[in-house]
Amino acid sequence: MNEEKKRIVDNFGRVHNYLRISLTDRCNLRCFYCMPEDGIELMEKESIMSLEEIIELSRTFRDLGVDTIRLTGGEPLVRKNFGYLVEELAKLGVTLKITTNGIMLDKYLDLFQKIGLKKINLSLDTLDKAKSVFITKRDYFDRIWNNILKALELDMEVKLNIVLIKGVNDKEINDFIGLTKDRNLTVKFIEFMPFKGNKWDWSKGVGKQEILDTVSEKFPNVIALENPKHSTSTNFKVKGHVGSFAIVSTITNPFCDTCNRIRITADGKMKNCLFANSETDLLTPLRKGAEIQDIIVNAIKTKKYSRDGMDVKMDADHYENNRSMISIGG
Ligand code: SAM
Ligand code: SF4
Repeated sequence: MNEEKKRIVDNFGRVHNYLRISLTDRCNLRCFYCMPEDGIELMEKESIMSLEEIIELSRTFRDLGVDTIRLTGGEPLVRKNFGYLVEELAKLGVTLKITTNGIMLDKYLDLFQKIGLKKINLSLDTLDKAKSVFITKRDYFDRIWNNILKALELDMEVKLNIVLIKGVNDKEINDFIGLTKDRNLTVKFIEFMPFKGNKWDWSKGVGKQEILDTVSEKFPNVIALENPKHSTSTNFKVKGHVGSFAIVSTITNPFCDTCNRIRITADGKMKNCLFANSETDLLTPLRKGAEIQDIIVNAIKTKKYSRDGMDVKMDADHYENNRSMISIGG
């Protein structure tokens, strides 16, 4: 008898085909909205997935219907032997994507070309060098900017991730839109989200409507673009611009209805949602040689409909019990 192929489907019928893997909780930047001021307790080396374990888990998820894998962190490019890992993952036949701060991107652009990794999300919260030092506590702006230009020269699909914070970079919204005039890139504005230790307060956030109002003041011809089914952003462009812009409105307009995402932390815990407080350990059973397909398929059944149950508002008792973003993998 033909057994039906197992899929990762939650209790709301949402099929999960998109996996985000955090390769490390280490990072060469210290963005204040991501990394708590006092730092984090770094994962013990032995509790971090080895490259072979990442490949094996990825293969298991691929066999369960995952067709897209995004590598993230921490900073994924600081992971030792990253080149080997990405080449092996490319052999799985999934679409590979990466989210990076771009500092080490030049080292891997040739390899990305070779294996067909084209989609790069790159964090760049400001176009002002001094402000970049304030946000990231490091001085890498020029290097990151040059790497963005290199990626664009190679026709990579570049999205700039911008977490908007009032009084920090909210006055730069239209400078970022200006980048899209002649460049084939997307600038993606992300609403500031709460995680353990990041001193979140929505009065510091900039919401979707405010962003759209600001853009329309300077660029009256904003066109709404089609949003792919599982898109976590709403997409727009200014008429006549080569590039586009997007808004990730997790706080003011969550997009959970069609969520297809699962996350694995660098220590091998499956998270059903960015805001999930409960996690499922995949690494321990994997190390014991246990069958993990059923563990994954069962774990997704505990997924809540929206923001891990914070349907109406973000609740500090809830998000302070989550991890810090740097150790989740955004
Ligand atoms: N280091 C890589 C980078 O910065 O692109 C990948 C990891 S980082 C955690 C992934 C994304 O999460 C980045 O685009 C970052 O801006 C975003 N992020 C981190 N903390 C956030 C927060 N509190 N609210 C919204 N986005 C956040
Ligand atoms: Fe590092 Fe990315 Fe977090 Fe910045 S946002 S501290 S680059 S992991």
